[in-house]
Amino acid sequence: MSDTIFTKIIKGELPAHRVYQDDRVLAFMDINPLAEGHVLVIPKEPGASLADLSDDSAAAIGRVLPRICRAIRKATGCTDFNVLLNDGESAGQAVMHVHFHIIPRYADKGEGAGLTKSWKPTKPDSEALAELGRKIARQL
Ligand code: 5GP
Repeated sequence: MSDTIFTKIIKGELPAHRVYQDDRVLAFMDINPLAEGHVLVIPKEPGASLADLSDDSAAAIGRVLPRICRAIRKATGCTDFNVLLNDGESAGQAVMHVHFHIIPRYADKGEGAGLTKSWKPTKPDSEALAELGRKIARQL
């Protein structure tokens, strides 16, 4: 597997403004932030998809996400967050190394310029929804 930009940042071959790191996780400032305080949180383990991440790396990320959110809130005064993961090309993933975006939101700035939400909810039949839920559950 060839190195991504983020692998090079982990190895110190490319610069980044680091905000946190431990044995399994690195967090750094997004180079083109969607809002002030936009931070990327990545596992040191390589791999493009969250679905392939080890339980240990996933747990390590889960453990620090709230702490990093608190630090961003204290540092920026943001009120809210979107925590976002683009997984796969059709989901808009550009860098093929798992990364969580923590995107601060500022109540006084409305939707802001960087991130706009465009949900188009569907209305599936209730039984179809239940059946799909059972199908997914059987795979766990
Ligand atoms: P994606 O679209 O894959 O979810 O997001 C990739 C993110 O990585 C983008 O927000 C982009 O600004 C950020 N990014 C891309 N290259 C670099 C880089 O070299 N350094 C840093 N700090 N962020 C990067």
